[in-house]
Amino acid sequence: MIKLFAANWKMHKTRAEARQTAAELAKLAAATLPQGREVLIIPPFTAIDAAVDGIAGAKNFHVGAQDFYPATHGAFTGEVSPAMLLDAGAAYALTGHSERRHVLGESDAFVGQKTAFGLAAGLKVILCVGEKIEERQAGQLQAVLTRQIRAGLADVPADTAPDAISLAYEPVWAIGTGLVAGPAEIVEAHALVRGLLAEKFGAAAGEIRILYGGSVKPDNAAEIIALDNVDGVLVGGASLKADDFSRIVLA
Ligand code: PEP
Repeated sequence: MIKLFAANWKMHKTRAEARQTAAELAKLAAATLPQGREVLIIPPFTAIDAAVDGIAGAKNFHVGAQDFYPATHGAFTGEVSPAMLLDAGAAYALTGHSERRHVLGESDAFVGQKTAFGLAAGLKVILCVGEKIEERQAGQLQAVLTRQIRAGLADVPADTAPDAISLAYEPVWAIGTGLVAGPAEIVEAHALVRGLLAEKFGAAAGEIRILYGGSVKPDNAAEIIALDNVDGVLVGGASLKADDFSRIVLA
């Protein structure tokens, strides 16, 4: 399976900054990117085309979006459609990032609606799931992942191409906190995710990428990426500087 190294820039970077960071990253990592790896830059909407410019010509580099609205067009002030993202040069999009669930109040059902709509529109979708610390402490890891994944995939066809959908396991308590889930915690959660994917997709679940996200840094990336069922990483803070992220991508 080709491992995916995704940089979530959240609400950071102007167009000029995005173009420059993307170009720097391509310069640092494209020529030496190990076989079996690809890189995804996920800037704010306004900088998608600038990031596309920045990576021009870099093999196995892609650009994605952090969100979208599940409709083709219409009276949805402030929103952006999958077709608009594809037109701007994004090939991928996230759904259900914890900041959208817990800061912007998105429900499991709405995340599911987006996931199915984005896939049908031709985006590759990365569905993000993960438990809050109080849920983990209450022994609810499996229940939370089950709820989020069943709802997130409810309307996704079972014959979806395995390279079109990825899952990202991101424990909320590890995002932006410097706290990384330990190897055993990551392996346990990713095995649960794989089992839930098999419920939906059968044998094809084995070909679906499961990324880990939560305080991945240059000094822990190699260990995380080598764990069972870890098919890539989704990185926030440590993806903002080309130098840091190139060390993750090349780890
Ligand atoms: C994220 O934004 O998805 C994330 C994992 O952030 P960080 O790497 O900063 O924890």
